[in-house]
Amino acid sequence: MGSEQTAADVFALLSDESRVEILRAVAVAQSEQAPSNSGFAPLSFSAIYERVEIDNTSKLSYHLGELAGTYLRKVEGGYTFTHAGEQIVRFILAENFTQPPDVDGIETEGMCLFCGETQLEAGLDDQYFMVRCPSCDRPVTGYIVTPAQARARSGPALLESLKRKQATEFGLVQEGICPECAGEIRTEVLDASEQSLPGDVPVSHFTVDECEACLRRYSGPLTYSAAFRPPSIAFYWEHGVDILGSGWWELHRYLREGRWSAERIATDPVEYRVELRHEGAVLRVFLDDAARTTRTERVRGRDLD
Ligand SMILES: [Zn+2]
Ligand SMILES: [Zn+2]
Repeated sequence: MGSEQTAADVFALLSDESRVEILRAVAVAQSEQAPSNSGFAPLSFSAIYERVEIDNTSKLSYHLGELAGTYLRKVEGGYTFTHAGEQIVRFILAENFTQPPDVDGIETEGMCLFCGETQLEAGLDDQYFMVRCPSCDRPVTGYIVTPAQARARSGPALLESLKRKQATEFGLVQEGICPECAGEIRTEVLDASEQSLPGDVPVSHFTVDECEACLRRYSGPLTYSAAFRPPSIAFYWEHGVDILGSGWWELHRYLREGRWSAERIATDPVEYRVELRHEGAVLRVFLDDAARTTRTERVRGRDLD
């Protein structure tokens, strides 16, 4: 079992309410265990039986047999989750298969890359988080939001959770790690002048970062690939700016005001230099053709060339 199963086989196993109930019961029972540094203890057959509404032990035995190998692992002392079980039971418990609540009209400050408007409006647009510019009516930035995320918070707290999640995930992308599946991210740097971006956008280069395994795609100005790295985060922290707590719609100000810029400084091999300027200090970040940081240097105001 296992390797010959197709995705359809794996999902067909869940088309029975009793099996979903078993997965929930195992997760709930494990959450009630005392914390331990060796993870959760397996749940015995009889402990599962006590927690589910299944008529008799032979029925439970049948369902456990179906789940074992795919969603549950049979180990000494009982059952515990496989990777697939762990993923699916969190999805079920968080009810991330439901519709998120309607969220609209959260006012937030930032900057529209297109027109410079600073009073922006955030909300969910077809379940996707969007910040829009009321002046030029264009989308300023967008990101994935989960139903659980939007149910648990509203207003500024929801915005804060989105900023933190996007910043942390974009940091992982810069390490080549997919935030969704931990597969490998492949990054391409594109020259904005060769793409069909609206004319007045102050972005010279941007990246397309795609997971080779799950095809999840991220994209952003090359300056952001540099900004979400530890040397840049530290540089800004020392100047009182929390990059990891900043929304992209807030960071757009640095691009629009010309404080962040990127240029290609070598072609063989390709090298890019991003400059992040703040209050007379400059951090230069050098990146390779996959937008990975190779080195950084700090420059004081009088040393600027
Ligand atoms: Zn605008
Ligand atoms: Zn992935």
